[in-house]
Amino acid sequence: MNSPTVNIIWFKRDLRVHDHAPLALASAQGPVVPLYVVEPDYWRLPDASRRHWHFIQDCLVELQAELSSRGATLVCRTGLVVEVLEDLRQKFGTIALWSHEETGNDWTFARDRQVLAWCKAHEIVWHQTPSNGVVRGLKSRDGWSALRDTRMAEPMIPAPNDLMLAADISPGSLPSKDHPMFGETVGSVQSGGRFEGLRVRASFLKERASKYMMTVSKPGISARHCSRLSAHIAYGTLSVREIEQATKVRMAELAMDLDPASKNLRKNLSAFLSRLAWRCHFVQKLEQQPSIEFRCMHLAFEGMREPHFRQEFFDAWATGHTGYPLIDAAMRSLHSNGWINFRMRAMLVSFASYHLWLDWRQTAPHLARLFTDYEPGIHFSQFQMQSGVTGINTLRIYNPIKQSMDHDPEGKFIRRYVPELSAVSEQWIHEPWRLPDPPPLYAKPLVEHDKAIKMARDQITACRKAPDFMDDARHVRQKLGSRAKPPHRRPKVVKDKSQLSFDV
Ligand SMILES: Cc1cc2nc3c(=O)[nH]c(=O)nc-3n(C[C@H](O)[C@H](O)[C@H](O)COP(=O)(O)OP(=O)(O)OC[C@H]3O[C@@H](n4cnc5c(N)ncnc54)[C@H](O)[C@@H]3O)c2cc1C
Repeated sequence: MNSPTVNIIWFKRDLRVHDHAPLALASAQGPVVPLYVVEPDYWRLPDASRRHWHFIQDCLVELQAELSSRGATLVCRTGLVVEVLEDLRQKFGTIALWSHEETGNDWTFARDRQVLAWCKAHEIVWHQTPSNGVVRGLKSRDGWSALRDTRMAEPMIPAPNDLMLAADISPGSLPSKDHPMFGETVGSVQSGGRFEGLRVRASFLKERASKYMMTVSKPGISARHCSRLSAHIAYGTLSVREIEQATKVRMAELAMDLDPASKNLRKNLSAFLSRLAWRCHFVQKLEQQPSIEFRCMHLAFEGMREPHFRQEFFDAWATGHTGYPLIDAAMRSLHSNGWINFRMRAMLVSFASYHLWLDWRQTAPHLARLFTDYEPGIHFSQFQMQSGVTGINTLRIYNPIKQSMDHDPEGKFIRRYVPELSAVSEQWIHEPWRLPDPPPLYAKPLVEHDKAIKMARDQITACRKAPDFMDDARHVRQKLGSRAKPPHRRPKVVKDKSQLSFDV
């Protein structure tokens, strides 16, 4: 008698058993091997870091327990995925491969192409199911949003209870958090795992979201009132669908309550839902155009910054020694904690790209390593937006002094992360260089804000004058742009024809 097909479930950035289509579908077929592969070559990439591994390791330990309680185990291997799969094929004879579609960086895309070629060579079927709201093979952005909404409304897939583990397979071992493969040591890291993800979601929906919009841009306090679900979404301890559905259930409950506090919470949750949709929107861009990891969306900006790269500027920015207090505090806090809010991320990139005129391809891997929630689709799209190289977004050049005054008026966040400024008063904390005796241990500003911005503005304006600029921008918008509102109905953000805006 032929032995049955063994179903390999390849876990990637989907470290859960609930709402997991590949696991549910594969386990209905017969014996399974739930597999996670630690790929040393991946961990050598400039955008990978030990901080990511810490989070992933937490998730895998819990996934292991979840699978064990359902009759299986997590099989962990270290090496090249194709070689691991080949071993399993040799062992079991007939296998099928199941996974979610992954929208990762160029390296994981190339690895997936190798796996596909291997599957074809051995006539192995690789069943890939969609991940969240990202649509593979999308022909046009028109209608994408409706497709996403349909997916988000579909019922959740229950975790299968009785898994049949393929016979005679050793679980292997999970590398420890301090294994040398994962590079430099890190500061503190948000805890991973589904249990923690559910806890974080529950506290956000119950109460933390009540000050979400009020604090979303404030460094420090936003860490409490933002959802903090990004790393859980990035590594898939919770699916976007289950977060979205739980949020809507909570909003329906709140709608029954006339208390103004409930109304306020509901409004905040509605803003949160928009951001979940943005997530899929941004990842969709990378899915459709993987080159955005390396090339400007609008090619007119290629070559604009690259020749001007200054290592000393990069080093000062990367370590938080630019002489601009909020920039330095934000960067140093990231080194310590691995998370910061959207506005601070945007400001850090804007400063690097405009004030220091650093090419975004040099700065993106640095922040990718620091962010626990590194998600290539959001990351590279946002880097390009905040560096002004998409050709379709209004340029935003953040003024780091104004940001500091607006969002950390008393300088509490700055003093927490930049001890050189601990004795500086509220009056001078945003511009310590203006003190008659500036603090001697704190760096002098690397560049002068007004001059640096003028230079950046002139360069960008020159690029935008290229003869085909608008035609090419239309193509970018057609392929990757949001359809939220057609451009002719969108309110004008700035009157200036060159669409540059400053001091955000
Ligand atoms: C330069 C830059 C790089 C970024 N890189 C990443 C990244 O690698 N990974 C990542 O998850 N987010 C990234 N973001 C987006 C955003 O800053 C984070 O998603 C957010 O701060 C995470 O915290 P939270 O989960 O508490 O967010 P919340 O405000 O609670 O939002 C909920 C979820 O919505 C999504 N989301 C929120 N804001 C955005 C946004 N602007 N664009 C797309 N999706 C969004 C995220 O999945 C987030 O978890 C980046 C932003 C910038 C400006």
